[in-house]
Amino acid sequence: MFELLARDAAGRLGKLKTPHGTVLTPTLMPVYNPNIPLIPAAELENEFKIQMLITNAYIIYRTPELREKAAQGVHNLINFHKTIMTDSGAYQAWMYKMELPVTNRQIVQFEEILAPDIATILDIFTETNDHDVAQEGVEKTLKAARECVEIRKKSNILWAAPVQGGQFLDLLAYCAKELSLLDFQIHPLGTLAPALQNYNFKQVAETIIVTKQNLNPARPLHGFSIGHPIFFALAVAMGVDLFDSSAYALFAKDNRYLTVNGTFRFESLEEFPCICPVCIKNTPQDLKEMPTHQREYLLAKHNLYITIEEIKRIHVALRENCLWELVQERVRAHPALIEALNLVLSKYPEFFLKYDPVIKKSGFFYAGPESLLRPEVTRHVKKIVETYAPPAETQILLLVPDLEDNFHPSSLFQQCSELIRQLPHKGIIHLCIYSPIFGIIPEDLKEIYPLSQHEYPRNYDFAMNHHAKLLFHQYLEKFRSHYKKIYIFRPQIYYDNQNQEKILNYHPIDAIIEEATENFTSFNTIDQLKDALGQSQ
Ligand SMILES: [Zn+2]
Repeated sequence: MFELLARDAAGRLGKLKTPHGTVLTPTLMPVYNPNIPLIPAAELENEFKIQMLITNAYIIYRTPELREKAAQGVHNLINFHKTIMTDSGAYQAWMYKMELPVTNRQIVQFEEILAPDIATILDIFTETNDHDVAQEGVEKTLKAARECVEIRKKSNILWAAPVQGGQFLDLLAYCAKELSLLDFQIHPLGTLAPALQNYNFKQVAETIIVTKQNLNPARPLHGFSIGHPIFFALAVAMGVDLFDSSAYALFAKDNRYLTVNGTFRFESLEEFPCICPVCIKNTPQDLKEMPTHQREYLLAKHNLYITIEEIKRIHVALRENCLWELVQERVRAHPALIEALNLVLSKYPEFFLKYDPVIKKSGFFYAGPESLLRPEVTRHVKKIVETYAPPAETQILLLVPDLEDNFHPSSLFQQCSELIRQLPHKGIIHLCIYSPIFGIIPEDLKEIYPLSQHEYPRNYDFAMNHHAKLLFHQYLEKFRSHYKKIYIFRPQIYYDNQNQEKILNYHPIDAIIEEATENFTSFNTIDQLKDALGQSQ
């Protein structure tokens, strides 16, 4: 039912097979309200090439003229012939603070009549600060899930059971584990809307990770209510496969214009920063002069184009293994997103290590201090601390700064490597690179991805300096007794040929030279180093 095509970070590109077609995930399901569709379903299918939309069984149930046509099936009812998912009304119960005049049993049976590709049980939205109330909601959701398994009759509908628990991570974990034991194919993550509305991205991010950690990984995860493209890349990097958007229409009704970096009020724009079919044909002034309905329709179309474009960009990033770089670009749109990324990378490193590919098509690009917490870095650091041992015969640690392409024949590293190779006692010298990103990179490991496939700016920032120093001390703490001497090669003048700057000026290697103790010696020229190595037998 769900086939994996590619992965990056904890995200995945997959194929979801449904009775009305195969959907490439991550995908975006526009929310379709059959009573007030801003963009007709046929247009979603033909112009936007939407593979899957989500509509609401409860809204159809409570609208007599729609309900009486239910037996035609939901595809005919709304005139959309690709994959359709139906939601159950739990969100409406929360939104309008009301008890629904319908039971889980009735909704499940009604959804079987509607025959969507994916149907959802009637769960309980758990937005509350009270753990007991949330727990009660989780138990009711689990009861509804068990009831659905018991009463459903049709075999050609995939069933979705939402994970509830709200802000309580223990309840989310419990709910995800229990639902994984039941026969369901998809799991929406419920109760994200309140935190999303408050820009509480830290809570949303942690909710996703805890759910993902406890859920059957073979089943797609639907980030219910994540409809703003500003959050898609990070959500996919944490394992979300499906998104739904009512934002494209709701924002349009409020004159809000979506971009991947945030939202503008369209009236304040002098020109549109987009070349979608709407924005290329119209100016903000044109839209101001239009009747309200026409303007809302066109803004909704722009909002949807932007949203789909971001999903496509994420597909490429998953295939090309550059999702982290996209995530780091996107989180710069709002400080609360940077906080969320920092939180999940520092609190859940093992989660990302489990999924992030060990070898990638693209190199590692430093894109800000969060890069230092990425799994590629964590993996190397963990290897050094937990399993690495310097070659047994080595006695002298020789550290050279990571300056340029270390494979280039004239690089500092290659010069040192050549020098050592000519020595009769070469076996006692352990050549290591000192990197602002990865700390100590022993020569014997440097071919491992991405130790030779990474780029970072040479104006070493505070974060890199601090990070590299920590990693150096961590290495020394473990291996100090292994080495008799530590040599640090820090060429006095090392010019960048292009801009004639001393690019070594701020390299973290200076910080460790300042701290040098009696076993440390630093050298400024290759001749000094040659003499010292020659005498070190
Ligand atoms: Zn546009």
